[in-house]
Amino acid sequence: MFKGILIEKDEAGYRTALRDIDEAGLPDGDVTVQVQYSTLNYKDALAITGKSPVVRRFPMVPGIDLVGTVEESRHPGYRAGDIVVLNGWGVGEVHWGGLAEKARLNGDWLVPLPTSFTPSQAMAIGTAGYTAMLCVMALERNGVTPDQGDILVTGAGGGVGSVAVALLSKLGYRVIATTGRMEEEPYLRQLGAAEVLSRDEFSAPGKPLAKERWAGAVDVVGSHVLANVCASMKYGGTVAACGLAGGMDLPASVAPFILRGVTLAGVDSVMCPRPRRLEAWQRLGRDLDIDKLGLIAHEIGLSEAIELAPAILAGKLRGRVIVDIGR
Ligand code: NDP
Repeated sequence: MFKGILIEKDEAGYRTALRDIDEAGLPDGDVTVQVQYSTLNYKDALAITGKSPVVRRFPMVPGIDLVGTVEESRHPGYRAGDIVVLNGWGVGEVHWGGLAEKARLNGDWLVPLPTSFTPSQAMAIGTAGYTAMLCVMALERNGVTPDQGDILVTGAGGGVGSVAVALLSKLGYRVIATTGRMEEEPYLRQLGAAEVLSRDEFSAPGKPLAKERWAGAVDVVGSHVLANVCASMKYGGTVAACGLAGGMDLPASVAPFILRGVTLAGVDSVMCPRPRRLEAWQRLGRDLDIDKLGLIAHEIGLSEAIELAPAILAGKLRGRVIVDIGR
């Protein structure tokens, strides 16, 4: 038996609880991992609360990322004792995930723990931080450079936003952070934001085109915020869009794309091919100021994860939440 969070759905309804789970229930996979840390991401909160149909197989152990020690491996790339990181691939959605003491995974999904990070630091970054790096790489691929002007980061107080602010400022960009929590301005400035704007400026339905302000943007919010960000991009600018914290819709016009050559670059971390993952983790080792992880992340025990999930969905948590599985 091992301890873990289990989500069940049947005639009795949708329910999530910390349980003792039989190892015989572990899914197929060629690597068994003793999980050290997982994290609480926006998607995990959706799964735990059942607020969105993230979980597509029941019963399910949530947790879209993890770091842990290989206990047994039939995969040529990994041996017992190796420390590995996992993000995405449907884990915590269709395959049992990281919010448990044990996970059985496909070795092809794993990456070795980058030498620059401890296991806890890797989860302070977690899927949100790795996605923030993918967003930065998308801006770079589209030719956005620090000399072109300001970069806007929306939902900056959350996990993706916080790491994006830290990364972009270290890379020499002038970062403008938007937040619904202006009381977090000192935190966002510590991460490297040059200015902090209220989310209110972006939340209401806007015009198809607005004053040109941003050379690049990282958006985690979607809906009107993303539409307004697109409308206020400078000529030739790029928006890396990865999230839906404000809604899944995009009430925008084509004007920014056809009149200003704006690029909307979609970013997905879940099925992202392995070479780009490895590049993202390598870049995090180089481009993230590790000292800032102490500001961004705080740790909780596995038993606290369920009660904290609604706070993430309400946009009340700052930065990242690391889950210490042994606690
Ligand atoms: P968090 O909950 O940590 O952060 C989201 C932030 O968005 C909040 O902190 C808040 O920031 C802002 N926000 C919350 N609700 C609203 C709202 N109703 N309107 C406007 N802003 C809001 O989540 P993550 O940073 O982990 O993830 C952000 C988004 O990115 C989520 O939608 C998540 O599903 C998605 N995501 C996508 C990935 C991908 O592969 N494409 C991978 C990882 C995440 P503030 O208070 O500062 O405004």
